[in-house]
Amino acid sequence: MNLSSIKAWVFDLDNTLYEPEEDIFSQIDKKMTSFISNHFNINNDEAFDIQKDYFLRYGTTLAGLMDDKNSIVDPDEFLTYVHDIDLKSLKPNPQLNESIENLLGPKFIFTNGTKSHAENVLKKLGLESVFKSIFDIKSAQYIPKPNIETYNLFFKTMDVDPKTAIMFEDMGRNLIPAKELGMTTVLIKREIPNQDNIFQDKKYSDIWDQDIPADYTIDDLAKFLNNN
Ligand SMILES: [Mg+2]
Repeated sequence: MNLSSIKAWVFDLDNTLYEPEEDIFSQIDKKMTSFISNHFNINNDEAFDIQKDYFLRYGTTLAGLMDDKNSIVDPDEFLTYVHDIDLKSLKPNPQLNESIENLLGPKFIFTNGTKSHAENVLKKLGLESVFKSIFDIKSAQYIPKPNIETYNLFFKTMDVDPKTAIMFEDMGRNLIPAKELGMTTVLIKREIPNQDNIFQDKKYSDIWDQDIPADYTIDDLAKFLNNN
């Protein structure tokens, strides 16, 4: 593996810079279900189906809510509500932090979440001064990954050449446009630990099981960075 041509390092945040075992994104997921349940005055099962339908069709639940004619949603109200979670289980991973700090060239966060959520997570991980910039869902004008126009906006805003940039993601579908635009791609594929994890539902399993053409498929980010 030779990453010597890489000049910019682009990281997804949730379930990429920390393990899904940390039970952080699953909290956001549950808050999205309860937001929809309250918003439409429906039960949790119905809300969950709407949530996943939006997620699959639009990239994020919020993008679906914003497009739904029957739903007037203030995006900031939604984002504040779903990111109000408990981060106390997050701890720095010294080996990972060191390997990210040692990468030559600017490092970026490219997330479908908010900047303040990213800042809170990075602080808990001890990575708050490592990244040059955070490109969040507001920077993306609420158009989430994997919409290709958002990648182009990211490259333009951050002055990054995709051909010499690498992207790290836990969600395969978000690497498809990255690859198309010339990035080197790394899929972090980990087992989802929680038995009750909603993504184990057969209906939604293709979110994770996509056989996407990533340049590297790994299960340990620190190990990968240390070996390159
Ligand atoms: Mg992620």
